[in-house]
Amino acid sequence: MTATARIIDGKRRAAQLRHDIAIGVERLRDETGIAPKLAAILVGDDPASAIYVRRKGEQAAAVGMESESHRLSTSISQDDLLALIDRLNHDAAVHGILVQLPLPPHIDKAAVLRRIDPGKDVDGFHPVNVGLLASDSETVDGRIIPCTPMGCMMLLADELGSLEGMNAVVVGCSNIVGRPMAQLLLQARCTVSIAHIHTRDLPELVASADILVSAAGAPGLIKGSWIKPGAVVIDVGINRVPNADGDGSRIVGDVCFDEATARASAITPVPGGVGPMTIACLLENTLRAAIAMTAERRHDTDMASDRQSQFA
Ligand code: NAD
Repeated sequence: MTATARIIDGKRRAAQLRHDIAIGVERLRDETGIAPKLAAILVGDDPASAIYVRRKGEQAAAVGMESESHRLSTSISQDDLLALIDRLNHDAAVHGILVQLPLPPHIDKAAVLRRIDPGKDVDGFHPVNVGLLASDSETVDGRIIPCTPMGCMMLLADELGSLEGMNAVVVGCSNIVGRPMAQLLLQARCTVSIAHIHTRDLPELVASADILVSAAGAPGLIKGSWIKPGAVVIDVGINRVPNADGDGSRIVGDVCFDEATARASAITPVPGGVGPMTIACLLENTLRAAIAMTAERRHDTDMASDRQSQFA
């Protein structure tokens, strides 16, 4: 099989985004003296979650942001967790708050995500941000877009420019990836189909896609022969599978990569595709939140001094 697809280098694109973010951070600091600050909350001792939180802190520091992490015991009560979120919501030095998922079963995830100030919800999971994302793009300012779909859209924009009129298929409909991804593609004027575990004829649907985004968490789900020749394929899946020789394991996506490269015009590898974009987009959201909050506060101060001079 001849490989023809361009391999989309998410690692390089993420490095470029972090470079742009670092410039934005420096400018904000020069103009206002304020450094964007990200607060991460980690409940329990899941090693993968601990690695993610540590990486987020390291990458925040690398672009000149401040960060703090709150590591809480698995047995923490929901009330205590909500009290911490309230404290961070009211802390003017904190611009972004994220709660690393998953949470232990005794904690109501929806209640926790709802408690975060929507302006500081840098994961974009609060119902206000979910609602804004579902609104018509031309009428909405200042919404926060979930990080992984934001990264996918950046890669697609680099690859294709305008996506207008294209058929896009999203496999997976989770709140974190599939649903917001579909909303963003719709806003980019694609004709969007969403597939999920109950979809009857996945191969037929995939074959209609000019743009295919797979976020199913199912290794090897998408066969190369299903892919429309010339399609752009974004593989969000991160799946650990045993090596063929039984020795150790490796990370693969949802798409049969080698087969797909013979049909697609461009494809993201796993690892090295969407993954690196996600944390970079979290930093982008934190910078945007800091800029929005700083502008709001300046406006309040201007209004306060206007009022003072009126009544002097
Ligand atoms: P999830 O389990 O919440 O959702 C999976 C979705 O895929 C569901 O809607 C389900 O119906 C659908 N699905 C599962 N198997 C299917 C099948 N055989 N056919 C059709 N649809 C199927 O998962 P999630 O949190 O959305 O994550 C999806 C994948 O993306 C996982 O592999 C996850 O590790 C990965 N992920 C990657 C990043 C990144 O930064 N690259 C970020 C988030 C998630």
